[in-house]
Amino acid sequence: MENSFWQPEVETLPRKELEKLQAEKMRKVLARAQQSAFYSKVFADIGFKPEDFKTVDDIRRLPFTTKDNLRANYPFGLLTCSKDDIVRMHCTSGTTGNPAAVLYNRHDLDSWANLVARSMFATGTRSSDIFQNMSGYGLFTGGLGFQYGAEKLGCMTIPAAAGNSKRQIKLMRDFGTTCAHSVPSYLGRLHAVFLENGLDPKKDTQLKRLFIGAEPHSEETRQRIQEMFGCKAFNSFGMTEMNGPGVGFECQYQAEMHIWEDCYLLEIVDPETLEPVPEGEIGEMVITTLDRQAMPVIRYRTRDLTRIIAEPCKCGRTARRIDRIKGRSDDMFIIKGCNVFPIQIERILMKIPNVANDYLITLDATPEGDTMLVEAELHPDFFTDDYPQLKTLQHKIARELSDEILFTPLVKLVPPGSLPKTEGKAVRVKDNRKG
Ligand code: ADP
Ligand code: ZN
Repeated sequence: MENSFWQPEVETLPRKELEKLQAEKMRKVLARAQQSAFYSKVFADIGFKPEDFKTVDDIRRLPFTTKDNLRANYPFGLLTCSKDDIVRMHCTSGTTGNPAAVLYNRHDLDSWANLVARSMFATGTRSSDIFQNMSGYGLFTGGLGFQYGAEKLGCMTIPAAAGNSKRQIKLMRDFGTTCAHSVPSYLGRLHAVFLENGLDPKKDTQLKRLFIGAEPHSEETRQRIQEMFGCKAFNSFGMTEMNGPGVGFECQYQAEMHIWEDCYLLEIVDPETLEPVPEGEIGEMVITTLDRQAMPVIRYRTRDLTRIIAEPCKCGRTARRIDRIKGRSDDMFIIKGCNVFPIQIERILMKIPNVANDYLITLDATPEGDTMLVEAELHPDFFTDDYPQLKTLQHKIARELSDEILFTPLVKLVPPGSLPKTEGKAVRVKDNRKG
């Protein structure tokens, strides 16, 4: 496929010019931020004036913003304009206390839709495509975020929302869906429903592209999804605090995600010292909005761990790429002195063909110390109640996991479909050790 762009002048801007543009936008963002109750105090406390900002490196003079800051200043503390100008809000799924809420004016919604359109275009999607959004609508940004982005691109859109697999399949087949968006953990279940109905998505749909994101997943999971659906799956990164989807996206080369640096200033810092890590090393991603008016967020600590890929991409876009998210610093758990990310477990499980797509890690405190149980659903084709055969496979998996995480967890293979399911993001860890 030839290289083509949604906004060629921005997407291929030489890096020097891109940095100049970032500094210009940053001055505007800071001037606006100062209008909010929260940032006017932050700036006053450190004696900072927006006009002091000269080059992008000056960002380091500013303090970080955390999710706790957003929650403590909920709902309007970061607002820079009159409430009359707000046209929408979204918020994170926090289950206790205040969520982190984001407020958008008309410009912000247009800018966000444009970034989602740009992202989808970069994968090869065009206005002739038929797009089905299988993500939850409502407060979750994956619904309306993709909806308006796909409309801006000019696709015919099917706002199917999450769940109801039979209806998803019917819509997909009746309207000839060519591309779709979903959390990766749902796609295994959708595939199972195709099979139960005697259908094969490889032959019985016209799918060419899937956009998968909103939750951490491994390269092995992507490969499985591509094999199940016989099409390409593109990694999509976003978060409510940064609008929603459309922050980072893979281009047609599927070579990790471009961060749209004309709209987001990207830093990677050491989560302990908060100093920048050397380029290419893993650290916590910190993002500043460069194109948001109603509620700019400066140096936001995402908690997501990744690294910058500095080499230019074959596509010609100058926006740098970040590596697949390794996990959130708050997803990591410590057991028997070892630091474990759920994605490490996932990578091992997804390499084993007998294992299906869903798994659950349960941590318990016992008088003999902490225990970790890994339950994984068996693939329906390999389902067996032959106990010795199961035991052999469980042992093999436990050995492979112990090579990765440095101690041997308990492994239990369970019948297909037996683990609890959620409609949105999958729950992979149940930590019963906490209160
Ligand atoms: P919440 O889950 O808190 O309600 P969001 O939907 O805004 O709110 O979640 C954003 C988070 O989802 C990110 O900070 C990141 O941890 C995760 N995430 C989003 N996209 C991806 C992706 N492509 N890969 C890994 N993690 C992702
Ligand atoms: Zn690229």
